[in-house]
Amino acid sequence: MILFKKVDDLRRYLSDERENGKKIGFVPTMGALHTGHISLVELSNKKADLTVCSIFVNPTQFNESTDLKNYPRTPEPDIEKLVDSGCHILFMPPVEEVYPQNYKAAQTFDFGDLDKPMEGVERPGHFQGMAQVVYRLLQIVEPNSLYMGQKDYQQFAIVQEMLKQMGSDIELVIGPTVREIDGVAMSSRNMRLNKNQRSIAPNIYRTLMAVKDKMDQFLPKELEKMAIEMLSNQGMELEYFEIVDGTTLTPIASFDESEKVVACTAVRVGEIRLIDNFILKS
Ligand code: AMP
Repeated sequence: MILFKKVDDLRRYLSDERENGKKIGFVPTMGALHTGHISLVELSNKKADLTVCSIFVNPTQFNESTDLKNYPRTPEPDIEKLVDSGCHILFMPPVEEVYPQNYKAAQTFDFGDLDKPMEGVERPGHFQGMAQVVYRLLQIVEPNSLYMGQKDYQQFAIVQEMLKQMGSDIELVIGPTVREIDGVAMSSRNMRLNKNQRSIAPNIYRTLMAVKDKMDQFLPKELEKMAIEMLSNQGMELEYFEIVDGTTLTPIASFDESEKVVACTAVRVGEIRLIDNFILKS
């Protein structure tokens, strides 16, 4: 695996590879890598000739400076995992490479209602910051395909819309959520759960499964109510549980009205905020 820290060096290298006919797959991350991230690298390895993974803790998508400061940074084990996964290129730039002093976001995006509900409520500006860095990284890497996890479904939907607005022909591939054996979605935040909190966390996936099992008998709104009760009774503070259209992220009144339907939730277990979702219909 080759490590690049400078934009120009990476661009030069990739431009040669592109001229040699290589197809480039790109996996953007913020590091603290686990099996979920690595599954995206593996997806890219299968489809593309060269996989570029980036590790960049993007300051513009954090609402609170303490969150940015406390975000886990584990470069050595990350590099080891990427080497083992067969990743070809790691791009690990300092902030000033991604946002040089004279850098002006070339394009701003209006995501309509996509970035307002769910994660957008508690984290205003988060998705604009995320879109800004993905846009910038796409300009640098110019990949043929881009790999993102279903775990962050709203992020995926927003990037899908951004690519559409850009008129981009980059293929966006969604990777299924990788879970622990008890159903908890893998996340760097799981490490911060104490024993009791960790024993409560599988109820999120259990609730999503209960909703899936009952979707033939109940309306989306009834299932949301049931899920909210289930989660609140299990020692979690509920932020949202919404059953939405998979493209527009707007709430639905019946399962028939959308081709793709996703149940999305965010809860707090103690101080730790966990998100998860399940595609009910696609
Ligand atoms: P992050 O480093 O948290 O920004 O995540 C980088 C990418 O990994 C995003 O596309 C996430 O959706 C994806 N990801 C994070 N956790 C998982 C997981 N458990 N399963 C699959 N993909 C994941």
